[in-house]
Amino acid sequence: MKTIVSALLFCFFLFPGLVTAQNDYQNERNRMVDRQIANRGISDEATLEAMRTVKRHLFVPAPRISQAYDDSPLPIGYGQTISQPYIVALMTELVEPRPGMRVLEIGTGSGYQAAVLAEIVDTVYTIEIVEQLGMTAAGVLEESGYSNVLVKLADGYHGWEEYAPFDAIVVTAAAEHIPPPLIQQLAPGGKMIIPVGSPYFTQNLMLVEKDGDSVRSRNILPVRFVPFTRAGQ
Ligand code: SAH
Repeated sequence: MKTIVSALLFCFFLFPGLVTAQNDYQNERNRMVDRQIANRGISDEATLEAMRTVKRHLFVPAPRISQAYDDSPLPIGYGQTISQPYIVALMTELVEPRPGMRVLEIGTGSGYQAAVLAEIVDTVYTIEIVEQLGMTAAGVLEESGYSNVLVKLADGYHGWEEYAPFDAIVVTAAAEHIPPPLIQQLAPGGKMIIPVGSPYFTQNLMLVEKDGDSVRSRNILPVRFVPFTRAGQ
């Protein structure tokens, strides 16, 4: 017995990678939710549970795995970033995702925000303009079992008419104005969260609510997002 224990210990020191490869980072995720998210006032149970469940380390580039649960955004290539966990949780909570809902996301990026939403709602439709990012995200989402996420490679400015209206829309790139097609594709009673402002400065995270024909919006908080780019520009 003693020999087995020392052999295991020996293996751990020799090949820590082998042992940590089996780590699914649940402790890191719980700590992230407690310290960075619940502690800052996010209280929606569905959102907190989804943030505890989605394996964020699978959505960051391999060399960044050790930083996956840090309190910050991270580069994912092509000049883009995966948002800070708190911002993902805040945007999720603000659109009030619930089972049965259909949600549109603009800016798939790593696929992480789509996975968080997919833990809660029925179907997530997500659009990415950078082909390589969209393809990689679609692969990770599929391997992780998120069969309720559909990824499209396109300019998200036009939304996804075919599946509209959406109960919620989450835009994860900073737009200079709210694209009118997105307002159109929001269901009555639906909510959209979108960073609005110049790509070179701080933007405002805005919550847009559609009530029948009237649209109300309010500023939530200053944020910095990567720019909303347009196809062919
Ligand atoms: N939600 C992502 C964050 C990605 S950053 C995540 O969880 O990782 C924003 C993404 O929006 C980038 O990948 C960028 O390429 C994409 N993007 C920018 N403009 C876009 C547009 N017009 N249509 C679709 N995606 C766009």
